[in-house]
Amino acid sequence: MILEEARRSVAAYGRKLIEARLTRGTGGNLSCYDRRQDLWALSPSGLDYFSIKAEDVVVLDGEGHVVDGLERPSSEWELHLEVYRRRPDVAAVVHTHSPFATVLACLGWEIPAVHYLVGFSGMKVAVAPYATFGTAELARSTATALGDDGAVLMAHHGLLAVGSDLVRAFNVAEEIEFVAEIYWRAKAVGGAPLLSETQMKAALERFRDYGPRPKV
Ligand SMILES: [Zn+2]
Repeated sequence: MILEEARRSVAAYGRKLIEARLTRGTGGNLSCYDRRQDLWALSPSGLDYFSIKAEDVVVLDGEGHVVDGLERPSSEWELHLEVYRRRPDVAAVVHTHSPFATVLACLGWEIPAVHYLVGFSGMKVAVAPYATFGTAELARSTATALGDDGAVLMAHHGLLAVGSDLVRAFNVAEEIEFVAEIYWRAKAVGGAPLLSETQMKAALERFRDYGPRPKV
């Protein structure tokens, strides 16, 4: 089986998406890219995460053509490919409908520096404008709003997180969902004082020195 390790990872992290409550049902999708072979592994369309086996994970080439896999690729395949085209540093993409990030996305609120862990994205988490799911327009607008950051909210839709591998992309999705919850709760009791630019830059420096990186 080609890209076997990547396909096993996509299947395993799909189950983790449900277990970590980052998505529900068949929502969301995830992929990882093997730059050396110019092939990538993407979760299949509309399949229960706990029933996805490695051979169900779809393999595509750098043009978005299906190379292998028993199932249809996720309807958001163009979203993943657009990010890979623009970000050579990215080798994994996780798209979730996690509840707190999605609330903010529906409100059209970007996530500012309310907590230093927003550094998993950058100085903030921007909001990409709404477009119909599964379209090239959504792929373009989301990749543009993502820019060089680690995550972006998708208006009236959800969250996109990226990383140099699936471990990091998943971690970004988890941490940004946490910051989204903190921001929502702080706003609910009438406040959300922010860290200054200087404080955030100092935090980003520490991220570079210790453990997880703020950006991929
Ligand atoms: Zn979605």
